[in-house]
Amino acid sequence: MATENIAKHPFEVRNSVIQGSGVFALRRIRPEQRLIEYVGERITHDEANERYDDENMERHHTFLFEVDEENVIDAGRVGNDARYFNHSCDPNCEAVNEGGRIYIESIKNVQPGVELTYDYSYEHIGELPEELRLQYLCLCGAEKCRGTILKVKKPRKSRRKSTKTSSAK
Ligand SMILES: [Zn+2]
Repeated sequence: MATENIAKHPFEVRNSVIQGSGVFALRRIRPEQRLIEYVGERITHDEANERYDDENMERHHTFLFEVDEENVIDAGRVGNDARYFNHSCDPNCEAVNEGGRIYIESIKNVQPGVELTYDYSYEHIGELPEELRLQYLCLCGAEKCRGTILKVKKPRKSRRKSTKTSSAK
């Protein structure tokens, strides 16, 4: 029957004001709905680093999902719509790790037309140079936006460097 052709997912991918493509609810979504599995090629962190050279990217835009210390899912080649979920600091979904498989589930009531997001909380190993931080700027527009899609580490006492005027331009 024709009704079977109605979107099997309660969302669609289209342009987003947050960044690039986003995923939008097509109908009301209740909390705790499993929306989609984040699929892709499973690779190691080393392989991911070889594939994507952070230093030469203007903005962090790969479709990588960090599963654990060993594995990363690269949805860049064989991924599904899960890779289009944007980050928000005030998300309506979350990524759930179930035995190494990643699912995106709703955590709030979402009205039709609203963009579906989750908190990426990217962890970067080691200290991230200031110029690379720019790739992780957050543009989610949430009232409590923390300004970055990186995971916030517990605030340390700021040992602020004295402001020096750099001669480099
Ligand atoms: Zn934000």
